[in-house]
Amino acid sequence: MPLTTIEDLHKEPRDRLALYQTWAYDLGDMYDKFVREDEDNVSFEVGWHGASSRSAGIHASELSGECQRPVWYSLMGEARSDQELDPFWKKKFRVGHVYHAMVQEDWRRLCEKSDGLLTFEREVRISPELSKIAKQYDIQSSCDGIINFHDKPGAPPIMRVGLEIKTESPDQFKDLKEPKAQHRRQTCVYMKCLDVPLLYTQYINKGTQNIVPSKPPWVFTFDFQLWNAIEKEAKQIIHLATINEIPPRSEGIWCEFCGYNKICGPDTLVRKAKREAGKKARDARNKRIRTVGVGGIRTPKGSL
Ligand code: SF4
Repeated sequence: MPLTTIEDLHKEPRDRLALYQTWAYDLGDMYDKFVREDEDNVSFEVGWHGASSRSAGIHASELSGECQRPVWYSLMGEARSDQELDPFWKKKFRVGHVYHAMVQEDWRRLCEKSDGLLTFEREVRISPELSKIAKQYDIQSSCDGIINFHDKPGAPPIMRVGLEIKTESPDQFKDLKEPKAQHRRQTCVYMKCLDVPLLYTQYINKGTQNIVPSKPPWVFTFDFQLWNAIEKEAKQIIHLATINEIPPRSEGIWCEFCGYNKICGPDTLVRKAKREAGKKARDARNKRIRTVGVGGIRTPKGSL
């Protein structure tokens, strides 16, 4: 019997489930072996969407639990924008896109060389037309990939493992003990919408290129309790949207790259903008004093 759907987690005997999971636990070693032996000439396409061209509907990352407002804004049909996003974040995200495309291409080539025993689905779309759950909550997203295990070439999969690639700075990677809570929620939404029973969060250290092993806690089965919590929260936000009541802000570092920060106007960003405007005014004043001096008298260099 296969392990290809969430329901299979209930149907399969425990020892069989444990055996399947050991196959998934080998993925990290397979990946490293593939990279060690790789001598191909490789090219691949990289791309990204600006916030304003992202499709409408709720994105899985907005159900990460950090703030309920992005889901509310999505439901109200507000447009996202990243025009105000600090180039610091934009550059970081661009590098993240490059990593994603490279690692997805690795998995595609690795599976291609498996003589049909593994197949890879890249950037698997989640949308209301393709999934009952996505339709229920108007979810539009995509999962980095699904790795399918086959017992013979061309046969239907006997196991499906979702893949989510995450990049971290060396310091963040060093402190990681398990997948981040927001990533657990995001991947739980992917698993539910795609009906995937197992998932590997492949964290990559951007400094050393090390990856986390494909073992628990990085590989996990669908979390029924977590999904119930996410679903309950989604229903509450839908209710608030129905009565046109906006949820409270939950501010944090994530406000900086939230697609709705312009319309939301969180205090943290308003204060940051004031600080930056103040610094700009001080810099301009100091420059003026250096040029024309106090009261029009040129100030000697180094005296300010
Ligand atoms: S800007 Fe911050 S508080 Fe406002 S919706 Fe986005 S995450 Fe929430």
